[in-house]
Amino acid sequence: MNFCSHCGQPVALRIPEGDSRLRYVCDHCHTIHYQNPNIVAGCLVTVGDQVLLCRRAIEPRHGYWTLPAGFMENGETIEQAARRETVEEACASLHELQLYMLIDVPHINQVHVFYRGELAEGGFAAGVESLEVQLFDEADIPWDDLAFMTVRRTLECFFADRRKQHYPVHTQALPPSRPVQ
Ligand code: ZN
Repeated sequence: MNFCSHCGQPVALRIPEGDSRLRYVCDHCHTIHYQNPNIVAGCLVTVGDQVLLCRRAIEPRHGYWTLPAGFMENGETIEQAARRETVEEACASLHELQLYMLIDVPHINQVHVFYRGELAEGGFAAGVESLEVQLFDEADIPWDDLAFMTVRRTLECFFADRRKQHYPVHTQALPPSRPVQ
């Protein structure tokens, strides 16, 4: 950040009084610009034994497969964000959702949250951010062409849990050295 988004003057990077972290501070209008992690919300959509994946039509990771997911917007709940992203990317509505996966990704300042849910009536189709949307059996998951490590982790947990027919909520963290995107 170079300029204050409030008044347009240059900002300085320093630790404000009473704080313990470096912040962008505007000495003109005295705004402290706090920067906090972003939440990515998505859905693991199932149809019988199959899982729905979207092939990305946008960067990053254009052409790679992902679970429908995206950044949470102001004014919505995480579940609403997950449902909205699933509509936007896969034109798919879902029955009841279960919280399933929470992955901290601190080196890129993100938290990824995935729900599980069965596809509702109405089917699915590629939204504007997807090249195609497809159902996959476990044996056909394109593991080498997944867009993000958090998607891989979520799918790995899901298929392991399915063998046990038990789906606890998982919490994980991706270490900084591990490439995510
Ligand atoms: Zn300012």
